[in-house]
Amino acid sequence: MKPLTEQEIRASFVNCSKGEAKRLSVPRDLADTPWDDLDFFGWRDPQAPDRTYLVAPLADGLRAVALRGSRASSWQTRRSMCSMCVTTHTGGVSLMVAPKAGKAGKQGDSVGAYICSDLACSLYVRGKKDAGMGSRLHESLTVEEKIERTMTNVEAFFAKVTAA
Ligand SMILES: [Zn+2]
Repeated sequence: MKPLTEQEIRASFVNCSKGEAKRLSVPRDLADTPWDDLDFFGWRDPQAPDRTYLVAPLADGLRAVALRGSRASSWQTRRSMCSMCVTTHTGGVSLMVAPKAGKAGKQGDSVGAYICSDLACSLYVRGKKDAGMGSRLHESLTVEEKIERTMTNVEAFFAKVTAA
C-alpha cells in the first residue's frame, strides 16, 4: 500500500468521533513502516494495549477502524485462526471488537473478529513473519491469492462495522 501520513490516518476513521480520531495514538515511526509489504496498516496503542487500530485502502477509499481487544492471555495455549489472513497461531490471535459506526455504535452495537494480535497479517501472508510451529496450512494459493483473500475479509469486516 502507499505510505500514509498521520493526517490521512486520522481522517479515515469510520467508528469514532472526530475528537477521538484526533487524540488517538498514531505511531510516530510512519516513515520507517515497510509500506511495500503491507496491504493494511495495524497498530496497538503502547499506552493502552487493549486498543488497536487498523487502516486499509478499500474499494471506496482509505478507511480506518478503532478496535478493543484483549491481549492474547486467555488464548495462549489454544491455537486459533486469524479471520483476516487465515494464519493459525498458538496464542497469537486476539478477539478484537469494533464499535459500529454511527447510531448503532452509540447504542452499543459492535462487531468482533479474531485477528492476529500484532495485526501483521500482511507479513504472515508474505512469509516475512513466522507464526510458529504448525502455522502453515497446506494451501495451494499463491501469495497474491492470499493477499486478495485477506483484503476480501478486511472489506467484509469494514462492511459489517459500517452497516446500519
Ligand atoms: Zn492475520
